Amino acid sequence: MQEFKGIPVSPGIAIAPCFVLDDEREPVPMRAVAEADLEREVTRAGEAIEASLGELAALHEQAKTELSSDAAAIFAFHQTMLRDPSVVKPIGAMIREERVSAEYAVQERFSAVAEMFQNMSDATFRTKVDDVWDLEKRVIRQLIGEHATGVERLEGDAIILAPDLTPTQASAFDRTKIRGFATDTGGQTSHTAIFARALGIPAVVGVSGISRVAREGDTLIIDGDSGIVVVNPDPETIERFKDRQRDVRAIEKGLTTLRDEPATTRDGTTVTLLGNVEFGAETERVLHYGGEGVGLFRTEYLWLTRDGDPTEDEQYEEYKCAVDLAGGFPVTLRTFDLGADKTTQARFARPERNPFLGARSIRYCFEHPEMFKTQLRAILRASAHGPVKIMFPLIGSVGELRKARLMLNEVMEDLADEGIAHDPKLEVGMMVEVPSAAIMASAFAREVDFFSIGTNDLVQYTLAVDRTNERVADLYSAAHPAVIRLIKDVVRAAKRRGVPVSLCGETAGELVQSLLLIGIGLRTLSVTPSRIPYLKKAIRTVDLAHCERLARTAGTFDSEQQVTAYLRDQARRLFPELLDGRTDG
Ligand code: PEP
Ligand code: MG
Repeated sequence: MQEFKGIPVSPGIAIAPCFVLDDEREPVPMRAVAEADLEREVTRAGEAIEASLGELAALHEQAKTELSSDAAAIFAFHQTMLRDPSVVKPIGAMIREERVSAEYAVQERFSAVAEMFQNMSDATFRTKVDDVWDLEKRVIRQLIGEHATGVERLEGDAIILAPDLTPTQASAFDRTKIRGFATDTGGQTSHTAIFARALGIPAVVGVSGISRVAREGDTLIIDGDSGIVVVNPDPETIERFKDRQRDVRAIEKGLTTLRDEPATTRDGTTVTLLGNVEFGAETERVLHYGGEGVGLFRTEYLWLTRDGDPTEDEQYEEYKCAVDLAGGFPVTLRTFDLGADKTTQARFARPERNPFLGARSIRYCFEHPEMFKTQLRAILRASAHGPVKIMFPLIGSVGELRKARLMLNEVMEDLADEGIAHDPKLEVGMMVEVPSAAIMASAFAREVDFFSIGTNDLVQYTLAVDRTNERVADLYSAAHPAVIRLIKDVVRAAKRRGVPVSLCGETAGELVQSLLLIGIGLRTLSVTPSRIPYLKKAIRTVDLAHCERLARTAGTFDSEQQVTAYLRDQARRLFPELLDGRTDG
């Protein structure tokens, strides 16, 4: 069994055998053509383009009625390209001048167009390179017949695994058999994501290396909510995800009623539930599930899903998208948290020996001040459109916080000088995810507008357990008494100084853990959007006194095992119907 983490782009859980789609492009060899046959080759090329246009028109119509307008727009774009004389005219010229076959000329022409797109400074063109390859394959198929993609072999239900999916591949599937998609590359707006959402099936993209690991016929689980992909799961894991599948269906039924209800305990304590997102467009999901804003926007995903850095304008558009979709609810933008698990070490001239303790996150920002300031400008510009908060990750010393704030102030001054709109009073906060920050929380509290506790990292640094290393996964637990004590200390320090504190690590999305956190004093939790209705339901089931009792009892144990056993028992008693297979049930 092997577990991977990618970017969830279409919700739901799928369990099925996998079907690996190979996307290797086989080059057409050069074939010289006799002078007398040249015009025939030119005609063949023209006919192949016409036939492709016919196919595309039909696909466009089909996508409009059966998929979505976004999916249809892809085929409309393909038609426009294929009708553009500047794209297709050089094909005939090449056949005549270089005396080559139609298929070779088509291949060479599209390669040149792809290269041109790739080198454009405008990112919109760079994202269209895959469309060019897709068109090339379509026209060549008209000329030399199908080089089998393999989808025709699909016999039963399957999860499609591919380096990336082209629109042609996605639209050629027998939809009654496809249970989900997982791809090595891609982001929220990749073709795979658009098609998966249009088809209403789960998908995870950006699962680096997955198509090389899984083999055809292997059982696969994909979780389109958390981004988890499991190859050859053991029977227990299958059962766990099946439980969640049932659970998701049951809760979705009650979702419509829960969405507009507050997350209030039976005795009247209200908890604010926010969503964690990786892309601006996901904000829609947060509101859909009943969240009241974005508690953590992991902006580094903008870097992880493209070659090269996003420009200031691209970042601004992405952040503004979140602000617009949030419709007046606050959006907390965390500055990019690159490094360690969230970037390839290829960015560094010399890979680090110990990247989690290396130049990651805010340290990486300080190493690259221009990159950091570009992001700060983009965030500030977005703050002109609605409530935005800014948050610095991995702060471990007051000096780091001051340095980050200083840079923010410099950028604000620049914007003011340039007359560019922004919110000069936006709240500035920090993640508490390094033990030194947790221990010194009262000192930090004097200098920030808010704290957000990041247990994902706090656990790994407190317990010296790499959060990505499956060999020590059983040692990684937010239920460890040392972690609970640190959270308590931070909440206490924040309260004393009147600083709002929230928690955005994965543990906040687990049912009994969330009650424990409420018992400790937290009143704002930020979680994967699809967890929001679960938490609402859990919170609405209990009294605050119950949460406080839970926290008090958990605080009496000195071992993680005792805490976990206690929480599990509580979960079974409190929410037998909501069991979700997580550590707490
Ligand atoms: C965390 O560390 O808890 C957190 C929310 O940030 P990330 O998982 O992105 O490191
Ligand atoms: Mg973190």
